[in-house]
Amino acid sequence: MLAIFKKYRITTPLIFYLYNFIFTMEISETSYCGIEFEIKKNGFSNISYILIHGDEETARMLLSEHINENQGRAFFIKSKQREVPLGPTIVDPNRIFSTIGAKKALKKFKPNWDQNELELILKELDESRNIFLFNLFPSEGGILIALHNNFRGYNVNSEIENSQLYSIKKEQNPRDFIICTNLNDYKKLKQGPYNIVLQNIMEEGNNGSLSWAALENDVRYINIETRLGWLSQQRKMLKFVETKLSK
Ligand SMILES: [Zn+2]
Repeated sequence: MLAIFKKYRITTPLIFYLYNFIFTMEISETSYCGIEFEIKKNGFSNISYILIHGDEETARMLLSEHINENQGRAFFIKSKQREVPLGPTIVDPNRIFSTIGAKKALKKFKPNWDQNELELILKELDESRNIFLFNLFPSEGGILIALHNNFRGYNVNSEIENSQLYSIKKEQNPRDFIICTNLNDYKKLKQGPYNIVLQNIMEEGNNGSLSWAALENDVRYINIETRLGWLSQQRKMLKFVETKLSK
């Protein structure tokens, strides 16, 4: 690289400028219907990452260290809780990425709604969602990687009936697994040591999780889910996914 600079007699300030332009971490913010996110952008890459559940500390730690060392954009929800305030209630932020999912999520902690108030907030979500997703989604052909942790018994077996294909590894803990939405990605990833499921058909009555919005928009989506506290396991899985899919 230095040889190129020498060859074209690029001056020191220009090198400095280019270096900063390519490698400096840029920090900004965005919101989805008032739910705030911090964005860390490291250089240029067609990978976006997201931490959407604020109480999943292992995933937060991993994503923080990962974005310092790898190019891409990482979205961190600015909350320490799983559920976040939305209008007069709280919601799981990973259940509002479809209108049908959002309707169910909004009623979970507030069963009785004034119909007009509910319709209004659903409309606001629809509008805000498109803007948020446009920002979040990687450029064409890129990958969106979501990092999650579980601590309530949720495991890969809970996803099998919603999946088109799956590969379960006996020696792996069922609570550590990968969900993907692209058949080619699935074929590459299932060769590895980890539990994996493919969900590439849109569900009509879906639960509003980000994976469905990614699928609907033809964005390759990967969810890397591990037990809370199992940082090294999740780090290995993330490295495996990126290495396999970069080939
Ligand atoms: Zn989660």
